[in-house]
Amino acid sequence: MNEHLVIIGGVAAGMSAAAKARRSRPDLEITVYEKSGYISYGACGFPYFIKDDISDIDELIARTPAQAAKQNITAHVDHEVLAIDPRQKTLQGVNLQTGREFINRWDKLVVATGASVSRPPLPGINLSGIFSLRTVEDALAIKNWITAEKPRRGVVVGAGYIGLEMAEALCAHGIDVTIVDMAGQVMSTLDPDMAELVQAELEAQHVHVCLQQKVLSFIGPEQVTEIVRRVTQAVERQAIGQTKPQVDRWRVHEVVTDQGVLPADIVIFGVGSRPAVTVAATAGIATGQTGAIAVDDQQRTNIPDVWAAGAVAETFHLILKKPSYIPLATTANKQGRVAGANAAGGADSFGGVVGTAVVKAFDLSIASTGLSEGYARAAGFDTASVTIDASSRAHYMPSSQPMRVKLVFERDSQLLLGAQIIGQDGVDQRINVIAAALHAGWTTRQLSEIDLGYAPPFAPVWDPVLVAANVANH
Ligand SMILES: Cc1cc2nc3c(=O)[nH]c(=O)nc-3n(C[C@H](O)[C@H](O)[C@H](O)COP(=O)(O)OP(=O)(O)OC[C@H]3O[C@@H](n4cnc5c(N)ncnc54)[C@H](O)[C@@H]3O)c2cc1C
Repeated sequence: MNEHLVIIGGVAAGMSAAAKARRSRPDLEITVYEKSGYISYGACGFPYFIKDDISDIDELIARTPAQAAKQNITAHVDHEVLAIDPRQKTLQGVNLQTGREFINRWDKLVVATGASVSRPPLPGINLSGIFSLRTVEDALAIKNWITAEKPRRGVVVGAGYIGLEMAEALCAHGIDVTIVDMAGQVMSTLDPDMAELVQAELEAQHVHVCLQQKVLSFIGPEQVTEIVRRVTQAVERQAIGQTKPQVDRWRVHEVVTDQGVLPADIVIFGVGSRPAVTVAATAGIATGQTGAIAVDDQQRTNIPDVWAAGAVAETFHLILKKPSYIPLATTANKQGRVAGANAAGGADSFGGVVGTAVVKAFDLSIASTGLSEGYARAAGFDTASVTIDASSRAHYMPSSQPMRVKLVFERDSQLLLGAQIIGQDGVDQRINVIAAALHAGWTTRQLSEIDLGYAPPFAPVWDPVLVAANVANH
């Protein structure tokens, strides 16, 4: 019998692990269990599918189970793993289509169950028109709702990157959007002075931004409570033999916050994402301080022959020098690849991250890497920062756009700690330069000496990154 690698979760981390293991070991038996109806989907593209930039969801699906089968990888969709037995090296699950339970053995196991969105148990949370966004099914449901119900008012809960992307997507359908967040600023990964630019852009695009507001409940047109709704619906269905609820009366109509009532025909939860550790933790796979699965640089867990990768796992933060939880697609792919290589007998490692992220919100690109000033200070660094405004290209070029760069560094050593860049043009390539500098452990002086390319259509002769580093050196 061939050695059997089982992977739980069939998206970025899981399928990267499967592909790498297959390339390393043609003889390995590889089985992937995925509880949704799809594998290898690009969740990052969902907001653009919902916005209608991408018309066909299939374009976001890199591989189907049939395509995986051609690589001799067996991928079972609609199969949820319910329990892992590390001693017997078995797992148990259920086929969600048929309800039939299954048990399988494994020799090596990769846990790639990602993150899941838990909706808060607020009154009215189950009204129609309230969505979270994690799976293909979620993306399709939101798009269908927009097409069929033509919502006019939308509330996005959470002003993080998914909230911002979804605000833009809803606005593209002519929906009047309000973003609600408990924090005092949008994008809490940024320092407040940089987040102000993002809020200004949202407001310029007619998005209402409600900060320091807590969502308390959701109500339908008839002001029914959730309990009344459920009871009535059950009685109605029994009485007339319906199998489907009559959604019209039970659709969301208003969002109640601690500061008022917001009208809404659609609500998107852009918050509440947590590492999906339940099955692993119940089996004794240790989680770290962040709540995600603790792994070493080879993606090994505390249990022999069990690896974890992606949004279910911690990753080492190269500046904080400790495990952190930064669930991004880039890391999931890299960690998955390492887990797959090692589960197939290799000894690959993944060094860690500096936390680089970029997001588009309407006309702005918002990028960050390393630590914000506030985070660095809270983490105990003696922190200094500079902020400069510059042009993305030579100022006389018609396509040149303003850009703000904030560099965060250690006061005495000038060691770089992080950066935030906001603008309309050339933001991504600049943050990547600083991310490389952070990986290299550079100071602001070393950054100011880097030999960057210049011609008027691409950059000013003093690139904004160099200007910021020079100012920091003074
Ligand atoms: C709307 C959106 C936009 C995003 N945009 C970006 C972006 O622009 N850039 C970026 O870097 N990242 C982005 N991300 C984050 C990125 O998508 C995730 O970090 C990445 O998908 C993590 O991959 P993963 O394979 O670890 O986990 P996931 O993608 O969460 O996949 C895990 C899979 O495991 C399955 N699963 C869970 N439990 C079980 C079980 N018990 N049995 C069987 N299957 C199970 C789940 O159904 C899921 O399909 C975005 C995420 C979302 C939701």
